[in-house]
Amino acid sequence: MIEGVTPTTIAAIATPPGRGAIGMIRLSGPAALSILLRIARTPSGRAPNPVPNRTSLLTLHQPGTDWLIDEALVTFFKSPHSFTGEDLVEISCHGSPVVLAELLSLLSREGARMAEPGEFSLRAFLNQRLDLVQAEAVNDLISSRTTYQARLALRQMRGELSRQLSPLRTALVELIVRLESAVEFVEDDLDPLDRADICHALDQLIGELERMASSYGIGRIIRTGVKLALVGLPNVGKSSIFNALLGQDRAIVTPLPGTTRDTLHEQLSIGGVPVNIIDTAGIRETSDPIEMIGVDRTRSAVADADFVIAVLEASTHLPGVEKELLQELPISLFAVNKCDLGPVASPDAINNLADGRPVVMMSALSGDGLDAIRENIHQLILATGGATDESAIITNQRHHQALLDTLSRLREGRSDLAAGFTEEIALNNLHQALRSLGVITGETFIGEIINQIFSTFCIGK
Ligand code: GDP
Repeated sequence: MIEGVTPTTIAAIATPPGRGAIGMIRLSGPAALSILLRIARTPSGRAPNPVPNRTSLLTLHQPGTDWLIDEALVTFFKSPHSFTGEDLVEISCHGSPVVLAELLSLLSREGARMAEPGEFSLRAFLNQRLDLVQAEAVNDLISSRTTYQARLALRQMRGELSRQLSPLRTALVELIVRLESAVEFVEDDLDPLDRADICHALDQLIGELERMASSYGIGRIIRTGVKLALVGLPNVGKSSIFNALLGQDRAIVTPLPGTTRDTLHEQLSIGGVPVNIIDTAGIRETSDPIEMIGVDRTRSAVADADFVIAVLEASTHLPGVEKELLQELPISLFAVNKCDLGPVASPDAINNLADGRPVVMMSALSGDGLDAIRENIHQLILATGGATDESAIITNQRHHQALLDTLSRLREGRSDLAAGFTEEIALNNLHQALRSLGVITGETFIGEIINQIFSTFCIGK
């Protein structure tokens, strides 16, 4: 996808497929303005004179004819002050697939090539309008499913992560320069004090990068979400809690035990983290073959879940079988449901079973305790991921891997120095560390990685 020195002019529809009030076409490259001038006129029929960064109402025609294709709001961005860094024209016309297709084929006849997936962002990266982290963040922002995901993506898109990395990179370059000069001027060989000083600086750098890398614990969760399973005996109110958390009647609720025979999955957001919540069939000994399959599925849903909520019924004493079943499962939180019906029958037995894990008294019917359930889930998520400074959360596996590679090279370089090896040996590791760090923002240019990243973007982005 990465092409030669003179880029062609590319065009694509930037809005989602289908009909809408507005459909937008992007045109980027050296011929963008001349193509626009050939196909557009002012409403009074004159040749347009687009002013950069201003939007004007224009009519679009087959060149040399009066065949009107559409009226559109057209914005011209002059190189280098555009998203791609090239001359860029955005044509917002009516959102009809027919009009958009006709316009696109006109642009193609006038010399534009159809853009490949992610090609606008790729050009923005190649023209240094965005670094790699920022380009990936544009993609993340568009794909975000919760407002928290969107907020983090926006911060990365605005360069926060890159700004955090920049001083660390500078510090590493400075250390490399110090070691290089010791190599070059052999007579000024590093004295032991200098070595100790460089090791100290490396320790600080390693500490900062470790802190960043460890934020991937929560970052991964924010990006991919968590799985949460509801388990318990039939009829304790699992489906009612499932529906109440979702805010809709998704699972069938009946007074008959064993209604939920299969597992149901739905997505919700708790504290901005996508939570895939699973309502399971009740766990109990049963001879009904369909229910037995349901119970088996419950066990595998539990095995696959990050967190498990055990639902108990407030007014009944814990039967032995329930205790046994719950003891063998990795329960994160106990929800004591139906508290609206009266006092908890066996609080001591529940506390013994919980053994320090959170217990929430609730009623799916009245809604009491639902907020406490959400808050407890949120706390469980934070405890797993480790809460960190929001501005430097690593959410991308590629960034995390690059940080780990950087760290392992830095640690090796540091132990080379501490063990008294030559500066050259330590330098080899530090140069590799610098290279790995640069992979994150794209300063280390690896064509294969770059193509791979941008090809996951959609057309028009
Ligand atoms: P599941 O089998 O564990 O999924 O239980 P359901 O959600 O189907 O509920 C079983 C019965 O208990 C239904 O008749 C519900 O209306 C009722 N139920 C569920 N939660 C509550 C609650 O908090 N209070 C009361 N009084 N009834 C509830």
